[in-house]
Amino acid sequence: MTQSKTALICGISGQDGAYLAKLLFQKDYIVWGTSRDAQMSSFRNLHILGIKEQVKLISMALTDFRSVLQVITKVEPDEIYNLAGQSSVGLSFEQPVETLESIAIGTLNLLESVRFLDKPIKIYSAGSSECFGDTGNYPADETTPFRPRSPYAVAKSAAFWQVANYREAYGLFACSGILFNHESPLRPERFVTQKIISTACRIAQGSQEKLYLGNTNIHRDWGWAEEYVEAMYLMLQQNQADDYIIATGETCSLQDFVQYTFEFLDLNWEEYVIVDESLFRPTDLTFGKANPSKAKNQLGWKAKYKVKDVVKMMIEAKL
Ligand code: NDP
Repeated sequence: MTQSKTALICGISGQDGAYLAKLLFQKDYIVWGTSRDAQMSSFRNLHILGIKEQVKLISMALTDFRSVLQVITKVEPDEIYNLAGQSSVGLSFEQPVETLESIAIGTLNLLESVRFLDKPIKIYSAGSSECFGDTGNYPADETTPFRPRSPYAVAKSAAFWQVANYREAYGLFACSGILFNHESPLRPERFVTQKIISTACRIAQGSQEKLYLGNTNIHRDWGWAEEYVEAMYLMLQQNQADDYIIATGETCSLQDFVQYTFEFLDLNWEEYVIVDESLFRPTDLTFGKANPSKAKNQLGWKAKYKVKDVVKMMIEAKL
């Protein structure tokens, strides 16, 4: 009988962490998960997925090298998935230092710890499509240069190049997944997709409120989180470490997302949506477009669910 692998998921309380833990249990892994304070976190997402009792939870501060080194030494993981860090683009304009430290210093501490321990530990690092900036109508692939336009994207770009550098310079098995937006019922309401779904569902149930949105003329590639975590797992099962774009390959506007949501609930969106300029960001990306063909060709991964499926599944979960 083969021995179970051990995975360490940093940031297990988040959307992706919870789905990834579920997937790894199905693959017979022993799963450890970190939170900044494992005693205080509610781990709501792990409860929702019914896996809270199976996960071994541990506190870790990514920005503290000692903490990172201690956790890796204790857990002895075969694979580390780093999903932790300040993850909101909007909030990154308010907390630029926290964002940069948690993402860039955090990633560096992980890489440096694995290098220091000199063990064959594989690392997945959560990259982001935000690094590309505005792609225009040209779909970004893994060779497209980064033009980050938010503190979040600057931090993710730094983390991406740290991963590439440690792979090249020290031979670490470290991969960045450049993931485009992915949603699920576990998404908090701070993110616009969940705000749209939740508000529209309340309106459909009789609430008199309006939906206040910032710029609805942004275009994104929206996918389904539960299948995006499979791509993370697949990256670490390859013979060679590499970086991959993960996306559906289809882009639509936020206004389309709003329209699909209200249409699904038999409502006319124009009666409920108010564009509020105070919600506009200092800089925003108009267009995010992806070419995920490398993931299809090399990982055998392709998104099954497109934006309309995402809207439908999020509404069904809400109601
Ligand atoms: P979440 O925000 O849901 O989870 C991230 C986790 O990181 C949180 O649960 C939290 O854990 C921890 N965290 C939050 N803020 C900080 C901070 N300031 N310092 C250290 N840790 C922090 O993110 P997702 O699951 O949606 O995303 C996972 C990763 O993928 C993130 O790195 C995100 O930036 C990236 N990503 C996500 C995309 C998406 O569409 N969802 C797209 C592209 C990239 P705790 O409070 O328990 O410590």
